[in-house]
Amino acid sequence: ATMPPLLSAIANAGRHGVLVKSAVVMERLGQVDAVALDKTGTLTEGTPRVTDIRPLAGSGLDEPALLALAAAAEHPSEHPLARAVVDAARQRGLTLPPAEDFASAPGTGVRATVGGHTVEVGAPARLIGARGGGARHAAVRTAAERLESAGRTVVLVRRDGVPVGLLGVADRLRADAAATVTALTALTGSAPALLTGDNPRAAARLAAEVGITDVRAGLLPEDKVAAVREREGAGRRVLVVGDGVNDAPALAAAHTGIAMGRVGSDLALEAADVVVARDELAAVPTVVALSRRARRLVV
Ligand code: ADP
Ligand code: MG
Repeated sequence: ATMPPLLSAIANAGRHGVLVKSAVVMERLGQVDAVALDKTGTLTEGTPRVTDIRPLAGSGLDEPALLALAAAAEHPSEHPLARAVVDAARQRGLTLPPAEDFASAPGTGVRATVGGHTVEVGAPARLIGARGGGARHAAVRTAAERLESAGRTVVLVRRDGVPVGLLGVADRLRADAAATVTALTALTGSAPALLTGDNPRAAARLAAEVGITDVRAGLLPEDKVAAVREREGAGRRVLVVGDGVNDAPALAAAHTGIAMGRVGSDLALEAADVVVARDELAAVPTVVALSRRARRLVV
């Protein structure tokens, strides 16, 4: 017997390194008419590097001490930013003090006890808010915004509730990011949106490079879900593409969810309907087109 169109489309997707979890998914994929992309790990390669190490005046820390402190707290985290911080410390041959009581908040950062101190590493806007807190916090915000305007993701390090330093991190755009945005725009009739937990300045800078104008930044996992629901409430069938723990709820809530396999967290891979196993974002429009073709053959 010849293979039914949806099954041969699944086999074909497999040849492109894409795992489609069922025939139902293969069929639904072609119905999407709007796309929401995550930033870090999805539009970018997901292997960011620490570019700036800025101890704050009065912290008593030099660059290596700040980096070692942050890396100790980040060590148990699987977030790409955490890996960047730990790798930077390793490359400098720094010894990481042991950390205890590790906790992480998706879209926000991590907290651990290091050498008897509570150390937090995370988004400045989440840790110290957008206003208030006196002159010290105002100075931290100004320093963070300067780095963010240069396209950096900035993490703040706090020790016992006091800001002690900033780290700037930069990730490269995927080589196929712009072409993928163009292809998805052609397939769905509208440009993809960018949904990110990162800061608005870095997000806008990157979006401009790939031709995205609909940007939502500073989002928590539940805000990504709300953004998807909003669009689905307006009658759109939304395809969400993401990689992180922070994307898992939106991947599950979307009409169809696609996870980027190489950088993706286990939670994202489980929540998604489709997994791109080969590290190519361009496989996303390819599988949507495969579904469209198979649907035309199914009667
Ligand atoms: P994105 O949506 O772009 O993939 P995330 O939602 O994973 O980004 O993260 C959003 C922001 O939360 C990051 O830019 C960072 O400021 C902060 N953050 C999340 N996890 C961590 C972590 N492990 N270490 C430091 N900061 C973190
Ligand atoms: Mg991500």
